[in-house]
Amino acid sequence: MSQIIGIIGLGNMGCNMGATLVKKGFTVIGFDLSEQARQKATAQGMQSVSGLQDLANKSSVVILSLPKAEHVEAVCLGEQGLAQLLAPDSVVIDTTTSVPETSRLVAEAFALRNIGFLDAPVSGGPAGAAAGTMSMVIGGNETLYQSVLPVLEAMSSVRVHVGDVGAGNIAKIANNMLAAAHLITTAEALTLAEKAGVDPEKVLQAINAGSGRSGASQAMFPNWVMNKAYNSGFTMGLMRKDIGLAASLAADLQLDLPMTKQTATLWQNSHEQIADTQDFCCITQYTNPDLFS
Ligand code: NAD
Repeated sequence: MSQIIGIIGLGNMGCNMGATLVKKGFTVIGFDLSEQARQKATAQGMQSVSGLQDLANKSSVVILSLPKAEHVEAVCLGEQGLAQLLAPDSVVIDTTTSVPETSRLVAEAFALRNIGFLDAPVSGGPAGAAAGTMSMVIGGNETLYQSVLPVLEAMSSVRVHVGDVGAGNIAKIANNMLAAAHLITTAEALTLAEKAGVDPEKVLQAINAGSGRSGASQAMFPNWVMNKAYNSGFTMGLMRKDIGLAASLAADLQLDLPMTKQTATLWQNSHEQIADTQDFCCITQYTNPDLFS
């Protein structure tokens, strides 16, 4: 495979995505503001560059894995950003969980220079990125989507093309609103059972064989909460961003969604006790400290 892929943002997700693409035969060039992240990427078989210009000169497909929409905007539309640097017919695949409106803005600016853009946020965490088994939700033009399918297939086992640019992020925000809520509701259910005298480990088994199961009960609680490991590779700060995006999308649409509102309030209010840098599963320590601290 001779296609050269650029990756911008070599953190928990980006570095693992790049390593997977290298294993599958792609040449991968990575850029991150952090020297440490660039070194980690080099150790995984990627080439690293120290600026966007170099990356843009060498790659025809560029994957973004950045923390937030503001970083996407800076990298794409800022002075000496990708909108100026990439060659026409390049494609940018933005895997950041971002703001739908930002995706549309960036896509419009890119279109002026015939650069393609897909918003393609991901699920599966660093482990899914490392195994090439992520789920991706994709927004953007169907033909463009098909043109980069081999790259997407190398990184993911499930892809859902949900609509035009921005639709990927809307679907991802809806998903993460549920994940943020399920962590809290599952913690409450286990607390209820434990206080009533039943072993929470056994109740979790029962939930996972019953209709109350979810990604939280099936993956998060067994892997990172019950064993108090709290090492999923996804931070409180990033989940606070995501539930905040859900709440502001609801507000923009003038929707009254009480569960979304309550979930967002709990995640934001936990800030004084649980720092942005801590694992996102630590929300259970805030809502139900007796069982999970
Ligand atoms: P991270 O903080 O570990 O990595 C982000 C990287 O981007 C950092 O290394 C940072 O230095 C780099 N960066 C920031 N600004 C930059 C810039 N202007 N130019 C180049 N590099 C820059 O975050 P992550 O956990 O890898 O998450 C990345 C995205 O994927 C986020 O939007 C997150 O919400 C989403 N996501 C994360 C997970 C997870 O489990 N970690 C799962 C699904 C989706």
